[in-house]
Amino acid sequence: MSLAVLGATGSIGASTLDVVARHPDRFPLHALTANSSAGRLLELCRQHRPAYAVLSGVAQDSALERQFSAAGSELLFGAAALERVVSDSRCKSVMAGIVGAAGLPSTLAAVTAGKRLLLANKEALVMAGPLVMRAARDSGAQILPVDSEHNAVFQCFFEKKSIRKIVLTASGGPFRTAPLESLECVTPEQACAHPNWVMGRKISIDSATMMNKGLEVIEARWIFDMAPETIEVVIHPQSIVHSMVEYVDGSVIAQLSNPDMRVPIAHALAYPDRIESGARQLDLTRLKGLSFEQPDHARFPCLGLAYAALREGGSAPAMLNAANEVAVEAFLGGRLGFTGIARVIGETMAELPATAIEGLPAVLAADRKARATANALVMAQAA
Ligand code: NAD
Ligand code: MG
Repeated sequence: MSLAVLGATGSIGASTLDVVARHPDRFPLHALTANSSAGRLLELCRQHRPAYAVLSGVAQDSALERQFSAAGSELLFGAAALERVVSDSRCKSVMAGIVGAAGLPSTLAAVTAGKRLLLANKEALVMAGPLVMRAARDSGAQILPVDSEHNAVFQCFFEKKSIRKIVLTASGGPFRTAPLESLECVTPEQACAHPNWVMGRKISIDSATMMNKGLEVIEARWIFDMAPETIEVVIHPQSIVHSMVEYVDGSVIAQLSNPDMRVPIAHALAYPDRIESGARQLDLTRLKGLSFEQPDHARFPCLGLAYAALREGGSAPAMLNAANEVAVEAFLGGRLGFTGIARVIGETMAELPATAIEGLPAVLAADRKARATANALVMAQAA
């Protein structure tokens, strides 16, 4: 099963390569990719020896080519190279570990080419769920969720017609109990300090606003073909129960583990087998307790915005995602306050009507339009 790891230099990439390295020869590497971290990617190529390396945000450079070639990997440049490596007949499975909308074209290309897709790049499904799922039906591609909640649901999902609802758990992030009035002034460092997970900066901010859970509700709608009203969110601060499925007879099946992304990654990599992931075993007797509570929509307005976009349909989720990416970047860059994130997204959605999305160009056009609107709103807030 020759594997391409898109976003190899990121948090998902590191966890994936950690699991791969625990099983020598089981997952030969077809390609490793990064946006611009050439040094880090070269190091990974020396360690893992993929056939190809891709620097998708870098222009052709002969000196770099020689360095990678000496490490045994052919180096390719530019975003189109991502689609090329995932469509190659020698590539059998693809870890979609790029963050944000930038991951959509390569994720869709992998599905269109009928590969086994290990999906971490939830934004691709948020933007273009119907297109990605249709492409999978047409090509026979198998989509295995890596997001811990969806991987948990996948493990608990047996007989669709007997399922009453899916319950996605959320930790509530670093501000679950912070005084509401303090949120206006929190810093990116405070917002990135997640209580249970170490992740990339964008998803860390999404977790602090709970937009991450909103994006995951949309992701679940498409992966499991469930109606929005059958997907619930519950706060579970310990991040031990990763999600649940409730059946019509009242049974609830949950998946538990210590919070470590290597668990869902190992599951998706080896499915239907099970392999060692490197995660610490769960000792139930050491847990101080497992608690669950309703999400507070006043504290986390992004969650409601995501449900509204899902109900609106068409291009609305793609615009929600684009506005969120702009607002999160502005917050990380010190150009927008934390509570401004939800405000910018809400105002962008109110300003732009949803349109139909027949194909990738329509999705990308909606993404661009929402980015322009959100950027203007960020500038207006700063003024
Ligand atoms: P990260 O920021 O740590 O890594 C992002 C990776 O994508 C890097 O390898 C980077 O080089 C690459 N990249 C960034 N911009 C790019 C661009 N424009 N073009 C091509 N490549 C680009 O992010 P992460 O935390 O690993 O998250 C990756 C994805 O996985 C996200 O969609 C996130 O929501 C999802 N996810 C992450 C976790 C986690 O624990 N980190 C958990 C669940 C889901
Ligand atoms: Mg998740």
